[in-house]
Amino acid sequence: MAVEISARFLAQTRTTLAAAPLRLFIDGKWVDAFSGKTFEVRDPATGLVIAHAAAGEAGDIDAAVAAARRAFDVGPWGSMLPPARRALMLRLADALEASAEELALLDCLDNGMPVNIAHFFAVNVAAEAIRYNAGWIGKINGETPVVSMPNQHVYTLREPVGVVGAILPWNGPLGMIATRVATVLSAGCTIVVKPAELTPLSAIRFAKLAQEVGIPDGVINVVTGFGHTAGQALAEHRGVDKITFTGSTSTGKSIVRAAAGNLKRVSLELGGKSPVIIMPDADIEAAIVGASNGIFWNSGQICVAGSRLYAHEAVFDQVVEGIARRADSLAVGSGLDPANDIGPLISEAQRERVKAYIGSGVADGATIVAGGNVIARDGYFMQPTILTNTRPDMRVVREEIFGPVLCAMRMSNADLDALVSAANDTEYGLSAYVWTRDLSIAHTLARRIKSGSVRINGGVDLDPALPFGGLKQSGWGRENGREGIELYYETKSVSIKL
Ligand code: NAP
Ligand code: MG
Repeated sequence: MAVEISARFLAQTRTTLAAAPLRLFIDGKWVDAFSGKTFEVRDPATGLVIAHAAAGEAGDIDAAVAAARRAFDVGPWGSMLPPARRALMLRLADALEASAEELALLDCLDNGMPVNIAHFFAVNVAAEAIRYNAGWIGKINGETPVVSMPNQHVYTLREPVGVVGAILPWNGPLGMIATRVATVLSAGCTIVVKPAELTPLSAIRFAKLAQEVGIPDGVINVVTGFGHTAGQALAEHRGVDKITFTGSTSTGKSIVRAAAGNLKRVSLELGGKSPVIIMPDADIEAAIVGASNGIFWNSGQICVAGSRLYAHEAVFDQVVEGIARRADSLAVGSGLDPANDIGPLISEAQRERVKAYIGSGVADGATIVAGGNVIARDGYFMQPTILTNTRPDMRVVREEIFGPVLCAMRMSNADLDALVSAANDTEYGLSAYVWTRDLSIAHTLARRIKSGSVRINGGVDLDPALPFGGLKQSGWGRENGREGIELYYETKSVSIKL
């Protein structure tokens, strides 16, 4: 659905955002940070400050965790029966959908993503995740195992893990908070969310909607602020039972260290360097479109970006020319203009990082066949870029760039062993893309590639029903599907001698 933001709505939203600093949401109340500090929120399409948000720190995290604990232990939430909890979640999903245009505008201004994509996230990812997970309420139950000892009656109880801390990235702000809240509420837990400091706006609006539909105080708390203060305090907090983290692999490792204090449960959705394999028998035009979207969508700032292309030599030139043509024709610009396909990178630092990666690739001997440059205008825009003559030892091939940069590698024969070892030659293991019409090759690769998901011929990326997560250094655990909710349950065994 094409979304047109009217000039009036845009002006109103800008005025509201600029009027006063955005506050923390703790225990159902909107409060300033204890320190009184705020931080600037910028529009990456212009580089201008559009809002200020409260910079929560350890004391604010303490207050939020205490509120979440009360809501879990003694509030109405813990004893609420499934139909009431489900009804609240469905109301929240409806509210998200009803506010989809506003939410999309906030993510567009805050993250830079095209408003149509942000709208798709609001309706098809955020609201749908909440509805899907509401459907699991009351359906995760214990078992009555048959044990080896005589005269025993045993059963298991499934109990919510408790207070959850969620530390989130900036690359899909509304989708992130909604999918995390969806599973947490479904399981009957409570949550303290620390959105990325680069994109706090839609999380704050999300909390307001949750309040408006009647989610009890303390069930959802949002503390905006920085990773090294608010994030670190949340990860370390002894009152938090579980952390769900989405972000970079290096921060994921510090989360694990911080969580060790009380051995809280940890799940991690981290980075990736996902391979795209194009076999000579594939529908090459479809593969070109898929590979191009897979690396340029959201300016490559997606964890599942297909950033390493392995194309068979028989089709390599055709594939690279096709993706280069698409790269050159993509309209890069403000996400507010529906004519633009991709928006800016998230920040000046990210743009400089991506630029430095392209420079390092060229210094290591790679050839730029499309893009390669920063776009000289306000905001943090970068051309969609393709590098060829890339080798497995180059930094551009090994490290996650998190930008619109594809490394294309020519595979010299159809030897599957060589392909598999090239695809698996990475410390990451998030996703993989295979393009072939040969069923045997497709399913063989699906088995042999070490990644949390394998998508064949354009298979679905993200769906609330499909477990999602990474092997190796791409993370721990699976969000989405039944497994996603299981992350928020503990199992208790009960036995009685008869
Ligand atoms: P990041 O720097 O790791 O930040 C993620 C979150 O962690 C932010 O809220 C950040 O706060 C916070 N943080 C930073 N340092 C922390 C610390 N020491 N303790 C606690 N929290 C801390 O990642 P990013 O740059 O925002 O996001 C990009 C990365 O996320 C990429 O590597 C991408 O692959 C990954 N990602 C993965 C998935 C997935 O599902 N697998 C999805 C999206 C993104 P600040 O806001 O202050 O930085
Ligand atoms: Mg960051």
